[in-house]
Amino acid sequence: MELRILGCHGGETPRHRTTSFLVDDRLALDAGALTSQLELDEQMQLGAVLVTHAHLDHVRDLATVADNRCQGNAPPLVIAATAPTIEALKKHFFNDRLWPDFSVIPSKDGPTIVYQELQLETLTRVLDYEVYPVAVHHTVDTAGFVLRDADGALAISGDTGPTDRLWEVLEQTPKLKALLMEVSFPNRHQRLATLSGHHTPQTLLTDLEKLASPRDLLTLLYHIKPQFELEVEGECAKLPNLQLQIPRLGDRFTF
Ligand SMILES: [Zn+2]
Ligand SMILES: [Zn+2]
Repeated sequence: MELRILGCHGGETPRHRTTSFLVDDRLALDAGALTSQLELDEQMQLGAVLVTHAHLDHVRDLATVADNRCQGNAPPLVIAATAPTIEALKKHFFNDRLWPDFSVIPSKDGPTIVYQELQLETLTRVLDYEVYPVAVHHTVDTAGFVLRDADGALAISGDTGPTDRLWEVLEQTPKLKALLMEVSFPNRHQRLATLSGHHTPQTLLTDLEKLASPRDLLTLLYHIKPQFELEVEGECAKLPNLQLQIPRLGDRFTF
């Protein structure tokens, strides 16, 4: 499995991109930076986008990638998510007001996007991967995912504050190669993090310690707010006995 970092920040500037990862050039995890980071031919190669939740920083480029693929006569792009996320996308995003309903464009029989509904805690095939969605704790319905192919598994937390079930599932996941894990605010903004359903380094540590051997798990931190980048990175660097890494835009990992 190859993982490419398209967007790994909790905000945008010319040097920061919102959440989006690419697996094997085919499967995107969230859509915060699909069109800002991928060339047209790369956008056409996408097969599916797994969406953790409907917040704009995770779905925004579904709009522009759909538009580009429609003009490029690409096959339908699968948007895979749990029911509340799909409902929000239909009602508030691809609703013929904010953006055209690309599930019927150019035609109902040959649409630009198709929705694939995922059930929590149910193993489902998306492209050539097995996907296991787990509910996490954010301000809207949000799922973390465990993604598996023949070689092993990769997990993404989704936007979340302290949570329990995700760690139980990860504990039981064989050949777990890495976890994409959110952390957003510095410790001094704990109140804001709690209100907005995000982690600070101190709650991240508490959550990771729910694993029996947290230091065995490569943990790639994403969703740090650009405003607090140095502060959060400094606080994370002081966390003991963990295998933390902060990926940069364009980084590639092979698992
Ligand atoms: Zn969010
Ligand atoms: Zn977010």
